[in-house]
Amino acid sequence: MRSDSGTDQVFGPTGRFAPSPTGPLHMGSLITALASYCDIKQRGGRWFLRIDDIDPVRTDRRAIADITRTLHVHGLTPDADLRQQSYFVPRYERALQQLTEHCFYCRCSRSELQGNKLYPGYCRAIKEKTSNHAVRIRVDQQRRSFIDALKGDHGYVPADDFGDFVIWRKDDLVTYHLATACDDAMDYSHVLRGDDLFEMTAPQLFIMEKLGLTPPEYVHIPVLTYPDGTKLSKQSRAPALDAATPEANIRRALEFLGQDPPTNILSVREWIHWSVKHWRLEAVPPQLKPYIASDLA
Ligand SMILES: [Zn+2]
Repeated sequence: MRSDSGTDQVFGPTGRFAPSPTGPLHMGSLITALASYCDIKQRGGRWFLRIDDIDPVRTDRRAIADITRTLHVHGLTPDADLRQQSYFVPRYERALQQLTEHCFYCRCSRSELQGNKLYPGYCRAIKEKTSNHAVRIRVDQQRRSFIDALKGDHGYVPADDFGDFVIWRKDDLVTYHLATACDDAMDYSHVLRGDDLFEMTAPQLFIMEKLGLTPPEYVHIPVLTYPDGTKLSKQSRAPALDAATPEANIRRALEFLGQDPPTNILSVREWIHWSVKHWRLEAVPPQLKPYIASDLA
């Protein structure tokens, strides 16, 4: 089942780039966006932009317009209108209802849980709602596995690896896990994302399983880091992509992705065409070369 009210019926391969709208795109974002675009286009599929804006506090409205514009300048134009998770809250509420039998209401405070790597199960028996609770999903001991197209087979045991986790927050917001599990299973056949999100996959698959949804195929590509190993992010003040040099930015992204781009000068259109035609997932190195800002100059 990969259709649901609210989005187009899905036919054929579908992929997405799903940034959170917390600031401008940087080279690390372009690498992931371009890789997901090439991967799905080479399969003859459609590519979408989804803005993961479920947390209003972390959402910067200007960033949404900025992300859309920057992708467009780089020739990465989605095949349908922008999708925003904040528009899909009814879908997440329905999922929450469907999951009720697997859930309990957790009243633990952050300080009560401090020092526990996994949720210690204090509220597992609580079945009645109160005004101040998070909703946790109960996990089990059964071993499962999934395949990542680059990393191969990955086994996990929910109770040992992530424990009962929150799917609906105390402040009445859906969690990243629940929103992303619903959208990725219902709207996309292929998920290519940064391997900083690799750990998220098993809990999200657990949710999909409990909802009876077919999971997408996954691939996690390495993320771009500074020479000291810190990930490029808005928090680490990664420099925004220079919209004046999209050709050079795309070429640089392809280099990081191990795609061996040509040295001649191409237009954005030609670069994107080249990228899709020559895309080889297996050429992506296990670790990207570190990012040095002056490389682009
Ligand atoms: Zn609790």
